[in-house]
Amino acid sequence: MTVSLLLRNVRPYAGPATDLLIENGKITQVGANLTAPAGVAVEDGKGEIVIPGLVEAHTHLDKSLWGQPWYKNEVGPKLLDKIDNERLSKKRLDIDPARQSARQSIQSSLMGTTHIRSHVDVDTEHGMWGVEGVMQTRDEYRDIVDIELVAFPQSGLLRRPGTLELMEQAMAAGCEVVGGLDPCTIDRDPKGHLDAVFALCQRHGKPLDIHLHEPGEVGAFSMDMIIERTRALGMNGKVTVSHAFCLGTPDPALIDPLIEQLAELDIAIMTTAPASRPAPPVKKLLQAGVRVCSGSDGIRDTWGPYGNADMLERAMFVGLRNNFRRDDELRLGLDVCTTEGARVMEIAGYGLSEGSNADLVILPGETLAEAIVTRSPKRRVVKRGRIVARDGVSVRTAP
Ligand SMILES: [Zn+2]
Repeated sequence: MTVSLLLRNVRPYAGPATDLLIENGKITQVGANLTAPAGVAVEDGKGEIVIPGLVEAHTHLDKSLWGQPWYKNEVGPKLLDKIDNERLSKKRLDIDPARQSARQSIQSSLMGTTHIRSHVDVDTEHGMWGVEGVMQTRDEYRDIVDIELVAFPQSGLLRRPGTLELMEQAMAAGCEVVGGLDPCTIDRDPKGHLDAVFALCQRHGKPLDIHLHEPGEVGAFSMDMIIERTRALGMNGKVTVSHAFCLGTPDPALIDPLIEQLAELDIAIMTTAPASRPAPPVKKLLQAGVRVCSGSDGIRDTWGPYGNADMLERAMFVGLRNNFRRDDELRLGLDVCTTEGARVMEIAGYGLSEGSNADLVILPGETLAEAIVTRSPKRRVVKRGRIVARDGVSVRTAP
């Protein structure tokens, strides 16, 4: 659905006030005192900031408990505890991927997100349940948000026979990205795991986004093997490493050579800026020329109780985790949650210039830094040229 709209008196990136004319879902004119063509609705921006839509570059739409009764978390401490608990609880807790992904997508949209990359579980217990559910949401809620699916072998790829065949099926069904997971510590077969996921990428001509929680030396080893394969297959610009906790190791001798190669091969890094784990150094990565995006990861699921899908809050977390204090540093956090995320997801037509898609957020604040710090709920969200949320209320009703 595309419509036309004249946005009056908004300040792109907190700069001087201007008008934006949106026609057929695109920004067609930027300038002062534009004339509204006949029949075009006018929205008073009231001098507020306008930024391109927030980019949620890493979440798990299929398994949020959003809107469900409170889940009492009594899960064990190991990664495998969380993985096994979730897989075995999905039916019992009625975590229907179609409904839950719809609920989270609406929440994301009303907070200002216009694009989502969702990892979606593919396992031998539930097969394509998750993929089919999120694809249904992707189609039904296309008017408020764009959703990209990563086929994600959450329970391991090789340790549970049959998963690789399901991954193949998920890619054939239209998932946009191949996923992977901790090749050493989950599958305990880094060569086998990485050869398999890279082969999927090659067969389907799709990029890779791999979860790498492995810390320190082990994580660095896996990352080195990812780098090796990216180079050998010429997949420059087509690989994202999510979490990459190993890059948070305070040892330049370990991480500097990795960062140099990430930049050289244009391998992107996704960080949630976690409060409780080592985290990749965002400024250092950006300065090295590495694309860095961010995401909420799981929101209110059996892994953890936190999350509200607000990528403006995530920009603040990026700042807090990286000790950003200066205004120009806070801006980096916002870039990670907007333009950098768009670069990682290769979103065509992203931005605020003439010709860009009219996917944007209007929000109060004198400067961008202030907008991040205050995180006002008074946001207006525009998707494909139409206002789809206003002050926390979506045009769509959650199921
Ligand atoms: Zn994740």
